[in-house]
Amino acid sequence: MDGPRISIDFAPELRQFTAPERRRGPAPAPVDGVSTLGHVVESLGVPLTEVGRLLVNGREVPPAHVPAPGANVEVRPVARPQRVPGAPLRFLLDVHLGRLARRLRLLGVDAAYDSTDPGDPALAARSARERRVLLSRDRGLLRRRELWAGAFVHGDRVEDQLRDVLGRFAPALAPFTRCTACNGPLRPADKETVTDRLERGTERTYDAFAQCAECGRIYWQGAHHARLAEIVDEAMREFGEPAR
Ligand SMILES: [Zn+2]
Repeated sequence: MDGPRISIDFAPELRQFTAPERRRGPAPAPVDGVSTLGHVVESLGVPLTEVGRLLVNGREVPPAHVPAPGANVEVRPVARPQRVPGAPLRFLLDVHLGRLARRLRLLGVDAAYDSTDPGDPALAARSARERRVLLSRDRGLLRRRELWAGAFVHGDRVEDQLRDVLGRFAPALAPFTRCTACNGPLRPADKETVTDRLERGTERTYDAFAQCAECGRIYWQGAHHARLAEIVDEAMREFGEPAR
């Protein structure tokens, strides 16, 4: 490698985003005296949403810092739990994370999701407009400047993705308070007011109902409840009382 360069060391948590030759420790990277450290980090494959402190020769610098040739750079991961300033914690999930969205809603976490892909610019604009943390496994989407905040979701299985998001952001959990279909809040509903929308067997068997304030969907503890309760119990055991 010719020309001016820096040494850059990514924390183990960030190495999966980098080329294999950067995964064992400090490795050289070219600099041009103009590009910011944030740009250099991104150009090596690491989304800035995943980056915490940046150290140059042991001193913390902002992403706008322009590294000088010869600098020793350390890139640390974002702190967990991560605090998102200025807004109640709300999420927006990209089109590939529908199952994760339903699990977050099941736990009462505000998780906006649209199964019709509005495209990256519209998703990023909505994140900014509604101050929602964009969750995605698409690094290109996470690089968009207009995002309010974003996070890469680790894991291919929805169970792993859920643990990743709960561990990273420690959202307050309130199971069975949100519509898993549309993210709207659930309200207790009288049997009388929902009875004309129920099957005969359901009406006879159950007494406790809730209704989504937005889409009108009715919820009760039906046959699939045991499986949902299992998911909720598991999440509450590990993440139900976050340190605050
Ligand atoms: Zn609903």
